[in-house]
Amino acid sequence: MTIWNLGSINADVVYSVPHIPAPGETLASTARQSFLGGKGANMSVAAARAAAQVRHIGAVGSDGRELVQRLLEYGVDTRNIAEIDTESAQAIILVDTHGENAIVLHPGANHEIPQAVLQSALAEAETGDWLVMQNETNLQRTAAEMGRKMGLKVAYAAAPFSVNRVEAVLGYLDFLILNAVEAEQLQTATGKTPAELPVTDVIVTLGSEGADWYGPNGKLHFDAIKVDPVDTTGAGDTFTGYLLACLDRTQPMAQAIKTATKAAALMVTRHGTADVIPDLLEVQDFRP
Ligand code: ADP
Repeated sequence: MTIWNLGSINADVVYSVPHIPAPGETLASTARQSFLGGKGANMSVAAARAAAQVRHIGAVGSDGRELVQRLLEYGVDTRNIAEIDTESAQAIILVDTHGENAIVLHPGANHEIPQAVLQSALAEAETGDWLVMQNETNLQRTAAEMGRKMGLKVAYAAAPFSVNRVEAVLGYLDFLILNAVEAEQLQTATGKTPAELPVTDVIVTLGSEGADWYGPNGKLHFDAIKVDPVDTTGAGDTFTGYLLACLDRTQPMAQAIKTATKAAALMVTRHGTADVIPDLLEVQDFRP
């Protein structure tokens, strides 16, 4: 089947600086690197690296052709990424010599995905396909509603967290994934524990502690794999992409979580995001 991912596509531009500049200060950077980023793009790459058929639904500006090219190189189908008349999303990331960072995120095209792009994409979707979303684009509620109506399996990664955004899609979801902080924020806002949410499968990831699955058999815990982490960015996106790819291959949830746990553990041993997400063979061969 196909995983349709309504997701963000960012250019992550990382500047190394001696310190985070103060208001009014001008500072020369010592290095500049540019990466493919955004939770949506990361998840698409992860699912594609996990051997799923992934079609990304999104938008970039004319300055984003290289980002689309990179997605394509990682095995993501980019037919439903529109080039629109605005700038691509960009994250300006400053990292100082202590590893401290400051980030400016310009959402650009991620917030202006035309509804017609979503509609023409989903016109090709089939019952039983997955539709996945995160909270970095527009059209989430529209997509969730359409997906549910069409008999797609609707998945939502509630990051970056917003109570209103989660509540807007909650009634249409088959699958919800949150990290520990997001799960706590949702519980504070709604008064509902993950087990009480009206969603068949809820996963709460717990960093180095692993993940909990709240499903038809109640709560089950899965330990993380012990590794020496060097960079945990992208761990959650890798986990989710792998998990959905495994479920799409009709693996049982417990087995899918185990594969996702392995992929995410391998990911935290690497610096970087989309560009270093491991493929299925690397994950299968990973002996921590
Ligand atoms: P997010 O990146 O969205 O905040 P988490 O930090 O909960 O998500 O990480 C997602 C998954 O990645 C975890 O469930 C776990 O399997 C794996 N993971 C994260 N950090 C580590 C770590 N330090 N060691 C091993 N696995 C990790």
